[in-house]
Amino acid sequence: MSIEELIRRYEAGGGHLAKTSAEGLAVPPALHTVVLTCMDSRLDVFALFGLQMGEVHVLRNAGGVVTDDVIRSLTISQRKLQTREILLMQHAGCGLGTFTDEDFSEELANEVGMRPPWRTHAFRDPRVSVRRDMTQLRHDPFLLPGTRIRGFVVDIVTFDLEEVFVEAGAPSVVRTPALGTPEISSAAANG
Ligand SMILES: [Zn+2]
Repeated sequence: MSIEELIRRYEAGGGHLAKTSAEGLAVPPALHTVVLTCMDSRLDVFALFGLQMGEVHVLRNAGGVVTDDVIRSLTISQRKLQTREILLMQHAGCGLGTFTDEDFSEELANEVGMRPPWRTHAFRDPRVSVRRDMTQLRHDPFLLPGTRIRGFVVDIVTFDLEEVFVEAGAPSVVRTPALGTPEISSAAANG
């Protein structure tokens, strides 16, 4: 009964903590940025980028892939809440790398009698998927011209962050997490 466990934690102080975290914050994200990433439960976006509440929009789905609904959210985020940059991050060891779109559709069809109308966006190499999604974002007619887009693959074990570029032949750049005490203040870390 996990939902009841969540409600219990809300009552035990979660609700109060969330209220305190949101106090005084403006609705538009202070850093004018959207982070699009996977729903993987091991991925702490706020810790990874030293974020505080109120700074970015975080969009998450299976894979962190660009879907119609992601475009819907990005368009609203840009037009109504003044975001101008998109950080796209997918990851090695993603569940979407464990099957193919075709196999998954076939599996569902066998079980429920029809194929889903949507695609899974399964990928073998997250770099290829990030490149594909960056290209799609660059060409989307609803996103504002001049939107800055950068794409990354994070390793879910080492948390190395590899930047991926769309341009042919551009080498990717890998950053590794710093050892020791983080530079970001504990206030930022605790949000
Ligand atoms: Zn994933």
